[in-house]
Amino acid sequence: GLSEKLQETMKKLRGKGRVTEKDVKEMMREIKLALLEADVNFKVVKDFIAKVSERAVGQDVLESLTPGQQVIKIVNDELIDLMGREQSKVSFSSRPPTVFMMVGLQGSGKTTTSGKLANLMRKQGKNPLLVACDVYRPAAIKQLQVVGNQLGIPVFSMGDSLSPVDIAKASIEHAASKQHDLVIIDTAGRLHIDEGLMDELLNIKNSVKPHEILLVVDSMTGQDAVNVADSFNKKLGVDGMVLTKLDGDTRGGAAISTKAVTGKPIKFVGMGEKLSDLEPFFPDRMVSRILGMGDVLSLIEKAQDAFDEKKAIEMEKKMRTMQFTFDDFLEQMQQVKKMGPLSQVLNMIPGMNAKALQGVDIDGEEKNLARTEAIIKSMTRQERNDSSIINGSRRKRIAAGSGTSVQEVNKLLKSFEEMKKMFKMMSDMNKHGKKKLGKF
Ligand code: GDP
Ligand code: MG
Repeated sequence: GLSEKLQETMKKLRGKGRVTEKDVKEMMREIKLALLEADVNFKVVKDFIAKVSERAVGQDVLESLTPGQQVIKIVNDELIDLMGREQSKVSFSSRPPTVFMMVGLQGSGKTTTSGKLANLMRKQGKNPLLVACDVYRPAAIKQLQVVGNQLGIPVFSMGDSLSPVDIAKASIEHAASKQHDLVIIDTAGRLHIDEGLMDELLNIKNSVKPHEILLVVDSMTGQDAVNVADSFNKKLGVDGMVLTKLDGDTRGGAAISTKAVTGKPIKFVGMGEKLSDLEPFFPDRMVSRILGMGDVLSLIEKAQDAFDEKKAIEMEKKMRTMQFTFDDFLEQMQQVKKMGPLSQVLNMIPGMNAKALQGVDIDGEEKNLARTEAIIKSMTRQERNDSSIINGSRRKRIAAGSGTSVQEVNKLLKSFEEMKKMFKMMSDMNKHGKKKLGKF
C-alpha cells in the first residue's frame, strides 16, 4: 500500500537501512579500485582513503542518509576538496594586455587550446591576439594561422628565424598598438621534458612576465600526466592547468592526481577537437565522472535538499508524541515528491533494482499519492490538526471536495491512525538503534 511504500522510502533515507560495517569496508575497497582504475596516482589514492576513513569513523549518520550513502557523500566531498572546491578562473591584468603563456609537451593540445581559449575569451568580451612561438616544428606556425583564420582571430608570427623570446616580446608591443587586451602565446613542446625546452620557456617567462602560465596536459596519458605536471611546475611554475582530450574514454583520474601533486588548479578542460570544445573546469562534475555514481550522488543531493535535518528532528518528535497531523503528513509527501517521480526515486536507491520493484505498481502508487493529497487538501485546517473530529458528514464533504469516495476517505483515516502508531514504534526502536558508524 501507499503508506508502506512511503515508509520504506523514508526508512531507507533515514539511516535505518541495513548497511553493515562490512558493507562500508567493501565500499571503501570499491572506491579505491574505482580511483586506481581511473588512473589516479597510487599515493594519492592511499592518502585519500586514509583521510576518508578517518572522517567516516564516528560520524553521526545524517537522519536522511543510510551509512552507505553517508560514506559516498564523504568520498564525494573529499574528492571535490582535493580538486579545489571553487572553480578557478584566469586572472587579468589591470594594465592590458594580459598575457597567457601556453606550455606543455608536444601533442598535448597547446595550439588547439590556444585557439579554443582565444575563442572563449572573445565571447567574454576580450580582443585576443594569438602568438606563434613554436619555431621548431615546420608546420606549427601554419597550424596556428589556420586556427586563427577559422576563428577570425589575428595571429602574430615572425617566421622561424627569430628566437621565441624575441617573437614573444615583439608580440606584446604589437598587441598594445592594436588594442588587443589579451595575448595568448603558443609555445613549442617536446616529446619529453628536457632542459633545453625548460630553459627556453623560462626565458620567455622572464622577458614577457605572463599573468597566467597554463600547462596543457593530455588526460589520456594517465600516470605520466602527473610527472609531466610536477616537472613543469617545479621548473617553470605554472598558474593553472588545462586538461585536454577528456572527450575520450579516459575517466579523468589525471585530473585528481595532477591537482593533488602540484597543488595547482585545473582551469579548463578540452572536450573535443572543435574550437568550441573548451569548458571551465567544475570539480564536482569531474568527481561524478570519476566515481561513475551519478545517480547515487544525485540521490544524496536530493535527500539532503528534501529532508533538512532540523525539520526531520522536529518531525520525529511529533511522531513520537503522537502529535503527527495530516498537515505533517502532507509535508512529508511533498518532501518525497520534491525528489522526483516515485519511479525515479525508487530506482535511485541502491539495491532497488527491477527485481526488487517487481510487483510494485508504481503508476498506481503515484495515482494513490495524488488522491491522498487531494483528500488531505479537502480537509479544513481544524480537521487536519485533529482528525478525531472528522465525523460522517465531514467525510462526505471531504470525499465530494476531493473527487473521491467516502470509502477512500475512511481508508486514509484508518491507515493514518495505523501509521501514527507505527511511527511511534519505529522511533522507539530507533532510540536503541545504532547512531554511529563503527570502526572499519
Ligand atoms: P600541441 O602539439 O601541444 O600544440 O598539440 P595540438 O594542439 O597540435 O593537438 C594535438 C592533437 O590533439 C590534435 O590532433 C588536436 O586536434 C588534438 N586535441 C587537442 N585537444 C583535444 C581535445 O580536447 N579533444 C580531442 N579529442 N582532441 C584534442
Ligand atoms: Mg603546437
